[in-house]
Amino acid sequence: MLYKRLSKAEARRKEVGPTVRMKSSYNGTFLKFIKAFAQIGKDSRIFPKKCRACGAVYPSFPDYIHNTNPLGRGLEPYLEDLDVPRTLQYRNCICGSTLTVSFTKETYPRIESFWEMIGTESKRSGKPVREVVSEFRKQRNRYIQERDETAA
Ligand SMILES: [Zn+2]
Repeated sequence: MLYKRLSKAEARRKEVGPTVRMKSSYNGTFLKFIKAFAQIGKDSRIFPKKCRACGAVYPSFPDYIHNTNPLGRGLEPYLEDLDVPRTLQYRNCICGSTLTVSFTKETYPRIESFWEMIGTESKRSGKPVREVVSEFRKQRNRYIQERDETAA
């Protein structure tokens, strides 16, 4: 039945057009948030980020994305501390210990509208929030890596 599945996929591709899956395409709604993440660097309140376990230093958010390893949990709102809403980014340092970056309104001014956008996008697409965040992470990390490549 592989045959059937292939033709179905082909039909779908015709519907949405060939540019949708292109390497350089980004979700337009994500883009301004992606760019804001890519610019986090000079903010001394969260960067440079130093690993307490091994002492590795990550000067900026792009550098952190570039040189650490992704985990199953990525970007999550931290709801226990309700006075200061924060969002945590989880990744593993090169030494293997988890190195989190915490975003608040001070360090990422768009953080509230970011979660609003994720919620809206989830409703619009019918995908669970978790999946939308995962897509956002993928596009953001790709954006950061592509920028690094062109800058080098
Ligand atoms: Zn480390």
